[in-house]
Amino acid sequence: MTTQQLITDIQSRGLRLADVDASVPSRRGGAGPSDHKAVTIDGHTVMVPVHTHSAATSPYLINTVEIDGTATLFQDGVDIARISLPGAPKFYQRQTADGTPYWKIAQLHGRDVLATTVLQTCVRYNKRETSCQFCAIGESLKADRTIKRKSPAQLAEVAKAAVELDGVRHMVMTTGTPNFTDRGAEVLCESAAAVRAAVDLPIQAQCEPPDDPIWFQRLHDAGVDSLGMHLEAVTPAVRARIMPGKAEVSIEQYLMAFADAVAVFGRGQVTTYILAGLGDTPEAILSMCNTLIDLGVYPFVVPFVPNANTPLEHHSAPNAAFMRSILQPLGAMLSTADLRSRDIKAGCGRCGACSTLSKYES
Ligand code: SF4
Repeated sequence: MTTQQLITDIQSRGLRLADVDASVPSRRGGAGPSDHKAVTIDGHTVMVPVHTHSAATSPYLINTVEIDGTATLFQDGVDIARISLPGAPKFYQRQTADGTPYWKIAQLHGRDVLATTVLQTCVRYNKRETSCQFCAIGESLKADRTIKRKSPAQLAEVAKAAVELDGVRHMVMTTGTPNFTDRGAEVLCESAAAVRAAVDLPIQAQCEPPDDPIWFQRLHDAGVDSLGMHLEAVTPAVRARIMPGKAEVSIEQYLMAFADAVAVFGRGQVTTYILAGLGDTPEAILSMCNTLIDLGVYPFVVPFVPNANTPLEHHSAPNAAFMRSILQPLGAMLSTADLRSRDIKAGCGRCGACSTLSKYES
């Protein structure tokens, strides 16, 4: 099996860890994909599910992690590779003057990304008839692993430390949706401006499409380098079933917002997250990706990971063959269009740890 195939398979099936908190504690709950742990396989740092139901029955297993973070990866009991689990970043040891640990304000993702959820609440979350069925934004808050609102000053303080102590190279700022007007853009503007005043760190902001395209310029002026607006699913019926509230913002509205955002941020600096495995066919996903690429948007297709304590926790993850049937042609489409993950200034598409997509872009 090639490294690319191994990573695709392990991201689909998950990883069993004899000690789930070996090395740095893993992400549980939170906005978007979670219940992951960072693992470095053959030089590639990727996020793999470790707390999901499918991970509990995965053929991939690590028994012990050595003091230097390395471990033997077993598949069905056979030793197949030496891998490593990154240690805790140094900034996790610090806290703010009011006693809030830095790790509750922002977390290290992948190898060199600082990630935060600025508002850990969402207007859609508390009612299951409107919440996104895959989302666990309230879980980490309930478990006291984060705080409800990260202030601009807190974000600036943590970002500066993460750059100075751990060499992080870009930052992802996502947010729960606070209202049906700017949909989080305002809070992202304040946060980005504070971080950029403190440290030179490329930022990707992530929110739903704001009601007024003026917000794209405001985000850019605040220091945001790239923007993520996440479709999650591409077929209207799948969107209505999986994300009944967010689906009220139609695909047409997303496409208009993408065009407006590309005009401000530039071709290849606007991205969207598409979760494969929720019911969209590979053909539907590839057709939407074609439209997005024509608009200059980078479609970051990732395997759906069923998070614990969500309505989809028992939903199966897509298998590796399904993921390959999308990622292989999509990688070729991106190469032909010269839209590449390495050219994205900041964010999930550049990080790439949640999908093997960038490994197909050659
Ligand atoms: S791809 Fe995005 S969500 Fe995944 S680890 Fe990287 S920054 Fe985090």
